[in-house]
Amino acid sequence: MALYEHQSLKIYNSITGEKEDFQPITKGYVGMYVCGPTVYSNVHLGNCRTFISFDLVFRYLKHLGYKIRYVRNITDAGHLENDGEEGEDRIAKKAKVMELEPMEVVQKYSIDFHQILEKFNNLPPSIEPTATGHIIEQIETIKTIIDKGLAYQVNGNVYFDVLKYNEKHHYGKLSGRKIEDLISNTRELAGQSDKKNPQDFALWKKAEPQHIMRWPSPWGIGFPGWHLECTVMSSKYLGDEFDIHGGGMDLKFPHHECEIAQGQAATGKDPVNYWMHANMLTLNGKKMSKSTGNNILPRELFTGDNETLSKSYTAPVIRFFMLQANYRSILDFSDEALSASEKGFQKLMESLSTLKVLKASKTSDFNVNTWKDKCYEAMNDDFNSPILIAHLFEAVKQINLAKSGDKRLSRESLDLLSKTMNDFIFEVMGLEDLEDTSKSEANTDDFKELIEFMIQMRNHARLNKDFETSDKIRDKLLKMDVELKDQKEGTSFTIKS
Ligand code: AMP
Ligand code: ZN
Repeated sequence: MALYEHQSLKIYNSITGEKEDFQPITKGYVGMYVCGPTVYSNVHLGNCRTFISFDLVFRYLKHLGYKIRYVRNITDAGHLENDGEEGEDRIAKKAKVMELEPMEVVQKYSIDFHQILEKFNNLPPSIEPTATGHIIEQIETIKTIIDKGLAYQVNGNVYFDVLKYNEKHHYGKLSGRKIEDLISNTRELAGQSDKKNPQDFALWKKAEPQHIMRWPSPWGIGFPGWHLECTVMSSKYLGDEFDIHGGGMDLKFPHHECEIAQGQAATGKDPVNYWMHANMLTLNGKKMSKSTGNNILPRELFTGDNETLSKSYTAPVIRFFMLQANYRSILDFSDEALSASEKGFQKLMESLSTLKVLKASKTSDFNVNTWKDKCYEAMNDDFNSPILIAHLFEAVKQINLAKSGDKRLSRESLDLLSKTMNDFIFEVMGLEDLEDTSKSEANTDDFKELIEFMIQMRNHARLNKDFETSDKIRDKLLKMDVELKDQKEGTSFTIKS
């Protein structure tokens, strides 16, 4: 029986503001869509926090035994400056500055994004569709919305008619914004735009001659509006109604509000059952952001190459730092906080090593089953990783007490403790013990040094015409898959893998 059948998971649904029992549309299956990056610059640590938050969700649902299709897009067209309706496309602008093709910019930063997320041990999504790969589908959806009378075209642009939509539906139900406020808050002045109403948003924009990212459409040469791609790609791969939609808190409005309206307008269905929003990583108390430059890049942390850092940090330590906060809380980045997380992370790893060598007692002073239930309760309570981590540290305490002989743990307790800790630390939280790998790297270096030493011994033997010893060394090394090659410059070796 899959774990999910006897676990009751609650998810905080941003649209109701409540923690709700998670009931997927199809028993045992989950469809999850998360808004991906706009690939016009290096991914910063704030972006990584959101993707790590949803990796935790993905990993935990998998751990519970759900079959999950996780779709995360790449925005490679249509996202204009200031998240607005006017201005240059972010990618096209960068392409001009860098004197590259827009698709070269997309390729460069998609690679960076993948490399960084892999470093953080994020699992790849099941499907990673791009906006430019779905222009035809986007045009089809626009046609449908026009046919339903909820969008209009003017001068090669197509706008979503928010007021018309709001007659039957509720525009603002996710973000809690009121139509009247939206009207008075919109900066556009009458006559400045060809929209019927200032709160209408673009489904298709006419490309001015200087706009290099352009496609033919029934309304002329143009490009899709930013919000449309997510509606189109989520429904294509997950259906008109699906289980979970995620993204950073800053995407609630207008992006996700518009997604609901577009989906509802095109299909007559409310597209998403559970909206999840990850909170922001801040730096100096302000949101980390690409455009303001108030950010730090993961690579700067890996190398320590940033004047605000006292040292470098590994990816698992940074990931641990992020998971020590609830995904719905703001987290402020600082060198001190990261350094404290590093100490905690080391304690956790050390206790796993201790656990491997602890001697079992006949009886146990620690009820591992009760403790294990608490770990699941924490994760079932809307993926509460800081509470889970607190429980893991309770186990660390027990392990240390058992080590010093102050408490007893039976074989059965030790095995369950070890399995549960490993499951939560590595499988669910996606942490990695790099010490293990670095130890094996160190071993490789030591091994190479030993081979060099053996080569010197062999050279010495050959100089003394002791060919029996020199051949023995060569043959022995060969048995260990080390092949020697005698050349004019000296003897080199290769290790066969
Ligand atoms: P973008 O590439 O700007 O579209 O952002 C990609 C994802 O990162 C979105 O889900 C954003 O909400 C999220 N994001 C952007 N800035 C931050 C931040 N400072 N902290 C957490 N998530 C962020
Ligand atoms: Zn999106």
